[in-house]
Amino acid sequence: MTKVFSKALNKTIEVSRIIGEIKGTQPGPTLIFTAGIHGNEPSGIFALHKVINEIKEKNIPIKGNIYAISGNLTALENGSRYINQDLNRMWTSERMQQIKSGNIEKVGEDTIQQLNIYNVINNILTTEEGPFYFMDLHTTSSETIPFLTVNDSLINRKFTEQYPVPLILGIEEYLDGPLLSYINELGYVAFGFEGGQHDSHSSIENHIAFIYQSLVFTEAVSKEEIDFQCYYDLLAKTSFDSRNIYEIYYHYRIKEDENFTMKPGFLNFQRINKGQELADSDGETITAKKQGRILMPQYQSQGDDGYFSIRKIPQVFLNLSSFFRKLRFDKLLPIMPGVSWRSDKKDTLIVNRKIAWLFAKQFFHLMGYRSKKLDKTHLIIKNREAASRKNEYGTVMWLRN
Ligand SMILES: [Zn+2]
Repeated sequence: MTKVFSKALNKTIEVSRIIGEIKGTQPGPTLIFTAGIHGNEPSGIFALHKVINEIKEKNIPIKGNIYAISGNLTALENGSRYINQDLNRMWTSERMQQIKSGNIEKVGEDTIQQLNIYNVINNILTTEEGPFYFMDLHTTSSETIPFLTVNDSLINRKFTEQYPVPLILGIEEYLDGPLLSYINELGYVAFGFEGGQHDSHSSIENHIAFIYQSLVFTEAVSKEEIDFQCYYDLLAKTSFDSRNIYEIYYHYRIKEDENFTMKPGFLNFQRINKGQELADSDGETITAKKQGRILMPQYQSQGDDGYFSIRKIPQVFLNLSSFFRKLRFDKLLPIMPGVSWRSDKKDTLIVNRKIAWLFAKQFFHLMGYRSKKLDKTHLIIKNREAASRKNEYGTVMWLRN
């Protein structure tokens, strides 16, 4: 058992890898919640612990299964983001290949944690019935309203649009190896929820409200069994623009040995103007290159994400993009010179950079593609929809509407 301390509650609880699990009496979805992948974010652990206990005490009927899994236990006990390596940047496809083939070097506490979590998740995926839903609970170092981080596939979008909080699409293009990218590659609904500031009491309340709403949206619990409206309103009132969907257009990555300090006082989603002073790096001032909003300004010592810049995605663009993706309009792209499929799977395109300039990045986003890897002459872009297991979600309400 690991002791986890909450500054917000001034309380310690003991948890193991599985914080709790509930087997329903009727068939239904399998929900997998993870929390504390970052050890300085105990809020989600406390929330899951509380909700699991409440469901058991009140005998709330469950369809399917619920699993609550803890993240970096050593870092949680330590109260730090990680020990040697960020556990939420270790799920790259290269590493996952090594893990699956048993060729990973078992050095470092964070690697041991990763292997353990991988085995637990793998075990659930092989023993339980789908559909599967993955929800990863986090908090931020700056003050923030709650929001969702979502890899941009249509099933993810459709499912997460049910929550009354802003969505941030496309974070996977800027981060290497977050847990959720790995799960998304498997084709399941998977997304993150940022509940608030690391140590504020409201973050725990927001996480609890989020967990209960997730139980209802996945149809694991019926609305009438819990105080649904109360949880819904609690999240809805935190947001000034709950229905908006944003995309990331810039990521400031802190280099090794760089001395980076955010200017004080930035709040998440705060508007920034072109030229506005944002941070100091090795004695120089960093200014905003464009007008937009700031996301996750870093006010902690560990981690290499300085800040992100985001902008609202117009509704017309969202509608167009679902339309094109449903039609698989991208199948026509290889008739263009310099564009070809990378393999028979038809989920990845190779684009000659000589012609890539013809397309705006947004054009590929519209088609459901995310660009990641570059070599000197070619751009490799990957379709997020190809792996999607939409059919496994059957006739659930959120897909019908
Ligand atoms: Zn986190």
